[in-house]
Amino acid sequence: MNPDEATRNSIDRLWTEIDRREDELIETVAELVRHPSELGNEAEAQAYVAEHLRQTGLDVDVWDLDESIMSLPNAGDSGVPFPGRPNVAAVQKGAGSGRSLIVQGHIDVVSPEPVAAWSYDPWQATIAGDRMYGRGAHDMKSGDALNLMLPRLLRDLGIQLNGDLIVQSVIEEECTGNGALDAARRYRADAAVITEPTGGRFTHAHVGVLWFRIGITGKSWHAMQSWYGVNAITKSIPIMQALQALDARLNERTHPAFADIEHPINLNIGVIQGGDWPSTVPGACELHCRLSCYPGQSIAETRHEIETAIAGAIAGDSWFAEHPPSLTWDGFQSAGSTVAMDEPSVKLLDAWHERVFGAPMELKAGTGINDMRYYNFAGIPAGCYGAAGDNGHAADEWLDLRSMVPAAKVLGAFILDWCGVAE
Ligand SMILES: [Zn+2]
Repeated sequence: MNPDEATRNSIDRLWTEIDRREDELIETVAELVRHPSELGNEAEAQAYVAEHLRQTGLDVDVWDLDESIMSLPNAGDSGVPFPGRPNVAAVQKGAGSGRSLIVQGHIDVVSPEPVAAWSYDPWQATIAGDRMYGRGAHDMKSGDALNLMLPRLLRDLGIQLNGDLIVQSVIEEECTGNGALDAARRYRADAAVITEPTGGRFTHAHVGVLWFRIGITGKSWHAMQSWYGVNAITKSIPIMQALQALDARLNERTHPAFADIEHPINLNIGVIQGGDWPSTVPGACELHCRLSCYPGQSIAETRHEIETAIAGAIAGDSWFAEHPPSLTWDGFQSAGSTVAMDEPSVKLLDAWHERVFGAPMELKAGTGINDMRYYNFAGIPAGCYGAAGDNGHAADEWLDLRSMVPAAKVLGAFILDWCGVAE
């Protein structure tokens, strides 16, 4: 890290401006939270993002994903059609000679249900003390606001970058990753940062994730003669036990990035649907599951392990021999990824983190999936870095408001140093 004088001066001015406009930064998070954006309902929030970028003077690109991406490797299927739920990208054009950078965030948030468990309205961005409460306040409208405000502050300060700065706001991070998959092939850059709320840590690795459904067929009958029926719910028990055993087996394997994590691989049986009447033997049951895998393991290999586990559970069962369970793949179908710590962009981000925080950034290996993978798959080195908070995907999700200014300073200085400042 040895920025020239123009860059150093610009960083000083940017940091002063970030301090001065902290309220505006936080209000931008609040505005985003007040635009609910669950799966299928992303349009209004994306319109806000696009308008914000337009007002900054960027070239804004708003596009619906094309169905054809569903056939690409690591694409998933959310079951929701793409039209009317666009991705947004915008380019702050550089003077031409510097390195380019993508800063990316996802606009989608998970459901706040059960809302009764919240102390605050999940869509009102209530501030209490140093916290903002709201669905997405943490994951990840905090990062979306950073991505909107940094180009705005540069514009207002009259700072011209050398390399292009590309802002992206994508859909479907929480269920497939299709938004990032499409954005990472539409735009190229020399590096990317996903501004997920990492609490000032750097996500350098994360697992892959698959969702799957197992359909079990039984034979419905009146419960008073249950021996004539086949109970699809109880038939699913050995399959669930086999999945639990698979989870245990997979955690016997290790991966260097996940060595400190107690149970890195997680097979979750998240939904069970079966039967419809207490006095009827259930004729059908369906399990909806999620399994993770270490980076480096392919989707085909992971699917094979699931298929083998199920085959073992049903072997020798005469009912299953005639009525084999169905196995279908929905939602996430993506491998994990890593980024090397000696990538120039990672080293530079680390240096600016250390300048702001007084210590090197801690590393984080994600046991959940995030959008960085598609940039790494496309040859654009990418990791996650952003603000702090907690209760993502839970009641009373909150953003630590004090974390926004330091995160903005690290990312802002990194952008200026990476892309360069035009004289
Ligand atoms: Zn997120």
